[in-house]
Amino acid sequence: MRAEQIRIWGLLCCLMLLLPSGCRRADPVYNTRFLAFGTLMDLSLVGVEPQKAEEVAQLLEQDFAFMQRAWHAWDPGPLGRVNRLLPTGKFFAAPPSILPLLRKSQQLARQTDDLFNPAIGKLIALWGFHTDAPACRPPPDARAIRNLVRADPKMSDIEVRGIEIRSKNPAVQLDFGAIGKGYGIDLAIDHLRELGIRNAIVNAGGDLRAIGDRSGHPWRIAIRHPNGGVFAILQIAGDESVFTSGDYERNFIYEGKTYHHIIDPRTGWPAEGTRSVTVVHSDATTADAAATALFIAGSEGWYPIARRLGIRYVLLLDSQGRIHMNPAMAKRVQLLEGDLPVLLSPPLLDAP
Ligand code: AMP
Ligand code: MG
Repeated sequence: MRAEQIRIWGLLCCLMLLLPSGCRRADPVYNTRFLAFGTLMDLSLVGVEPQKAEEVAQLLEQDFAFMQRAWHAWDPGPLGRVNRLLPTGKFFAAPPSILPLLRKSQQLARQTDDLFNPAIGKLIALWGFHTDAPACRPPPDARAIRNLVRADPKMSDIEVRGIEIRSKNPAVQLDFGAIGKGYGIDLAIDHLRELGIRNAIVNAGGDLRAIGDRSGHPWRIAIRHPNGGVFAILQIAGDESVFTSGDYERNFIYEGKTYHHIIDPRTGWPAEGTRSVTVVHSDATTADAAATALFIAGSEGWYPIARRLGIRYVLLLDSQGRIHMNPAMAKRVQLLEGDLPVLLSPPLLDAP
């Protein structure tokens, strides 16, 4: 996404969060924003004195700066070091900033039949989605893609023994691009709670987790249409995360074809058939990984994977313009474009 798009979308998200829904009390909402994970991070705190809110925002900004350094796959930081040592096949001590994320990723990879597969870092690098590569470029060499797919890097190739890890497959390179934002937002919410904050939203360019409410009213969240604008509104309250994976987030065009950043590990090419997937779940880590995995699974395959992950609300927009969702999601989402065909799945779990 270009800086201008980020700004407009960030503004839109902010506006939607602030839409009045008949406030009972006028608790002040403190809004601040900073750059983290290459996107604008919006923090909204309810009923907090401005000076405390300022201090809290600074602490969170520091947290995210630390996480960004720790989880950058190709910089010389902790994950960069892990990626240098994995191909040796020998055991080494994993940095404490990496180990919990690695374990959680192994579990989520297993539950998604390795559609969510952060071990395909080499493929991501080959596609150039790890850097701000030029907007117009050819896709990588098909043979190079095939070779990386054949090498079959998986999270289960990584053996964990206490704090030590090793890879049984030299092709494994970690890229936490599909989960890092969610995991970081979960840590940020933990920190907010430690600081005594009860009502807040941490929003990374439309991917967010909310706790509490807004002066007794739910938060209103805008879901972006891949072609631009808002196509759905969700109300959330309590403790919920909303994450969307879309083909519009990072992509390039070559000879009229768009190549986006969500790679199907089975083919090595951008997943086809889906425009965007929105997932609502309690924790942001699972919501983030799930949105990526369900995007790849597509309209035919998303349902059993969502069940296995314990997800209660899914909305998938396919490339034919059809909306796929479960009945509980259909009940709570407000679609702004009434003419899109909707295909309802069987219920996922008993939504409360
Ligand atoms: P998201 O926007 O959360 O769907 O994450 C997309 C990012 O995750 C990409 O920019 C890549 O860095 C990485 N990624 C792409 N495909 C996969 C995949 N199949 N499994 C795990 N990470 C992926
Ligand atoms: Mg994701």
